[in-house]
Amino acid sequence: MNIGIFGGTFDPIHLGHVALARAARERFELSRVLFVPTGVPPLKPHAPGASYFHRYAMVALATREEKSFVPSLVEAPTTGPGTAIKGAKRDTSGANYTIDTVRRLKENLKSSDRLFFIVGIDAFNDISKWREPEALLRLCDFIVASRPGYSLADVANALPEKLRPAASVTRPFAKQSAKGDVMLNGVSVHLLDGVSQNISATEIRKAIAAKRPLKKLLDTAVADYIKKMQLY
Ligand code: ATP
Repeated sequence: MNIGIFGGTFDPIHLGHVALARAARERFELSRVLFVPTGVPPLKPHAPGASYFHRYAMVALATREEKSFVPSLVEAPTTGPGTAIKGAKRDTSGANYTIDTVRRLKENLKSSDRLFFIVGIDAFNDISKWREPEALLRLCDFIVASRPGYSLADVANALPEKLRPAASVTRPFAKQSAKGDVMLNGVSVHLLDGVSQNISATEIRKAIAAKRPLKKLLDTAVADYIKKMQLY
C-alpha cells in the first residue's frame, strides 16, 4: 500500500494543509494519510501557540470526514500525568525529529508499504538541516507542494550535499519551474504544482489575535474549537 505521512506543527491545521493532503492522495493513490502533529518542532524559532493536545484535537476535527485521513499520536508528549501513549517517543533533547518518527511509524507498517512524506516546498528547502536527511530521503518518497518562483534547480540544490548533483548538472534547470519528478541517486521527489494555497498558520494566528474574520481558511469545526477554547 502507498501510505502518506504529513507532518506539521498544525498550529492550527488549515484548508491549505487539507487540500495538499487530498491532492497527494489522489495523485499517488495513497490508501492512508497519517497526519502527524509535531510534538516539539526542532526548527521553528518559537514554541507553538497552542499545546500539542489542542493541535492534535484540531487535526482530528479537520480530518473527521475523510476515512483515509488518520490523525497520529506518534509525537505525543511522553512525560506528565496521563501521557503514557504506546508508540510515542521523544528525543532526549525534547525535540521531535522526522527520521525518528518515520522509523517509529514504519515499525507498525508492512515492509511492502511504500511511504510518501508530504511537505511544502518552503519546508523542503531546509531539508539538509533536518536530522539524517539522506536516510530520510531513502526511507520515503517525497511529495513536495511546489509554488511559483521555485525552479527544478532549487529543488535539486536543496538536497543534502551527498545527494546533490554538481552545479554544472543543475544549472540548466534553473529556468524550469518546479514540476514533475526528480529522481536522483536513489531518491524520488515528486513535485505537485497548483496545489499550494496562499494560506499560512502564522497569518491565521495573527488574524485571530486581531479579531479579524477568517473566511475560507479553516474547517468550520476547527474554527469553532478555536473560539470555544479561546486559542491564540
Ligand atoms: P506557520 O505559518 O506557523 O509556519 P504553516 O501554515 O506553514 O505554519 P505548518 O504546520 O508549519 O503550517 O506546515 C506543515 C506542512 O504543510 C509544511 O510542510 C508546510 O510547508 C506545508 N504547508 C503549509 N501551508 C501550506 C499551504 N498553504 N499549501 C501547501 N502546503 C502548506
